[in-house]
Amino acid sequence: VSRNTPEQAVIVVGAGPAGLTLACELAAAGVSCTVLERRAQPSAEPRPMALHSRTLEVLDLRGLADELLAAGTRVGRVALGGGAAVDFAALDSRFPHLTVVPQARVEEVLRERAADLGVTVEHGTEVWGLRQSGTDVTLQVRTDTEEWEESADYVVGCDGASSAVRQLTGIPFHGGTYGIAPVLADVRLRKPPPQEALVLFERGGFVFSLPCGDGRWRFLVAHRDLRWTDAPVTLGEVTRHLGRALGFDPRPYDAAWLTRFKIHQRLADQYRAGRVLLAGDAAHLHSPLGGQGLNLGVQDAVNLGWKLAAEIQGWAPPGLLDTYESERRPHAAQVLRATDRATSLATTSSPLLGGARRAALRLATPAARRRTAELAAGLRLAYPPAGAPASAHAGRRLPDRIISRHEAPPARLYELMRDGRFLLLDSTAEGTAAALAEGWASRVCTVRTPAPLPGFPEAAVLLARPDGYLAWTAPATSPADHLRATLLHWCGPEERRPARKRAPADAAAAPATKAPRSEDQSCAQAESGPPASARAEAEDRTR
Ligand SMILES: Cc1cc2nc3c(=O)[nH]c(=O)nc-3n(C[C@H](O)[C@H](O)[C@H](O)COP(=O)(O)OP(=O)(O)OC[C@H]3O[C@@H](n4cnc5c(N)ncnc54)[C@H](O)[C@@H]3O)c2cc1C
Repeated sequence: VSRNTPEQAVIVVGAGPAGLTLACELAAAGVSCTVLERRAQPSAEPRPMALHSRTLEVLDLRGLADELLAAGTRVGRVALGGGAAVDFAALDSRFPHLTVVPQARVEEVLRERAADLGVTVEHGTEVWGLRQSGTDVTLQVRTDTEEWEESADYVVGCDGASSAVRQLTGIPFHGGTYGIAPVLADVRLRKPPPQEALVLFERGGFVFSLPCGDGRWRFLVAHRDLRWTDAPVTLGEVTRHLGRALGFDPRPYDAAWLTRFKIHQRLADQYRAGRVLLAGDAAHLHSPLGGQGLNLGVQDAVNLGWKLAAEIQGWAPPGLLDTYESERRPHAAQVLRATDRATSLATTSSPLLGGARRAALRLATPAARRRTAELAAGLRLAYPPAGAPASAHAGRRLPDRIISRHEAPPARLYELMRDGRFLLLDSTAEGTAAALAEGWASRVCTVRTPAPLPGFPEAAVLLARPDGYLAWTAPATSPADHLRATLLHWCGPEERRPARKRAPADAAAAPATKAPRSEDQSCAQAESGPPASARAEAEDRTR
């Protein structure tokens, strides 16, 4: 049966954190998109999730972090015993902590933003068939009462670990399943341990304890002797595990979530097959040690969103969309390796390896500890620029800084990036780079500054991508041709006509977002939607 659905550029399958973030990114860029979700209604389960610094940073790029921060509990360090700790408090980030937020709240914030941007999330709708041609993808979809087909230019499978999209596309998901099956408990305690996050090692395993801020605690118990069974987890079992690790009975009660789960370690062979892409758990699964899963998925979506929008709007330079896989898949592979090593070491029954682990934790230098915290927080991630014009800092994360501006009040960099365009900072005396980039005004926000960005003294010109990574930096002496080549490489062809200033009527018609307005007119003009010229371009090319 065919149903009359509105024409759309992208169908996102799955309304988890990855799918909803992607929908927000696409819609903010002016690309029409629908989300199909099998669950009949949004999940209301208050399962706490730990968001890392970089995840909040990329959400902050779109004005979404503060709401999550307000709903979350900040955890500055995770104690590892013997005085060792992963210390987030010293990180160079606006968010120097773990932020523990219920997953339902994360999804709610994203769903509200998506709705503001005009995205439809169809609940109770399951995808069960898929075929693609050179020009579109058709999905077979069903609810309890009907079945129909729905097509789009691209489909992105954000449908979790058992992804139907991945399976229907035939993308292999190599890897395995660990022998151990951890127990997870979200409980209240009559006799709580210290109010800090800690990992308590014991021979053959560990207990991770995380205060969630609302009087509840999350415990993860992993041990070589804990094997998979269908038997439900009981409070008695949790009491036994916690008593052994803590050395006293914390008397857990009022369990919100008791579960036993298998640890999978799998990575999709490809993130893209023609017009079908994968993101989030659909593309990678790994040990929960380090709490990276949701974080990786959100960051996948922010990496993919602007590239897919560029492809659909017709300005993507050749190969841009493929950089989604070449940037994100190696990172996921590295997270799989790191969490695998950490899990093996944390659950070893070898006294020798246990001793080595204790010594490594005790003897780690401050620099090594800082590096560990930066790695866990996602702040060390960089994307080596393959095939892009060479420059000193290309691929590194753009740190959030308050900058001075010519003829405008100081502004925070991440607030200047709310509209999802590239950001070009030009501190040359003549402003030649900013003038040249005017030819790409619908895709590049230009800001003239009196001095280079702190920490980048030699970079008079700096171009940042919409996902907050540096595309290019250059000294004042760099020839204009180099910047032109860079803009062509990253931002596509120069626009045929000068960008129109957005008229008030345009602004009213643009999708509303909750992004606060910036004082910088050159960037602020698009803060409640893409600039008029970008939208005109999108309307021409988007089906
Ligand atoms: C016990 C446990 C604790 C965890 N703790 C943390 C933590 O602290 N921090 C962290 O970062 N991560 C954590 N994770 C991992 C985290 O939950 C996942 O990585 C995250 O939810 C993945 O998000 P996603 O959007 O990719 O997929 P999901 O959240 O799985 O969302 C996929 C969505 O797709 C829908 N769907 C599936 N199939 C179809 C279909 N055929 N048609 C339509 N819709 C479909 C599903 O209903 C679902 O809503 C934990 C995981 C577990 C199991």
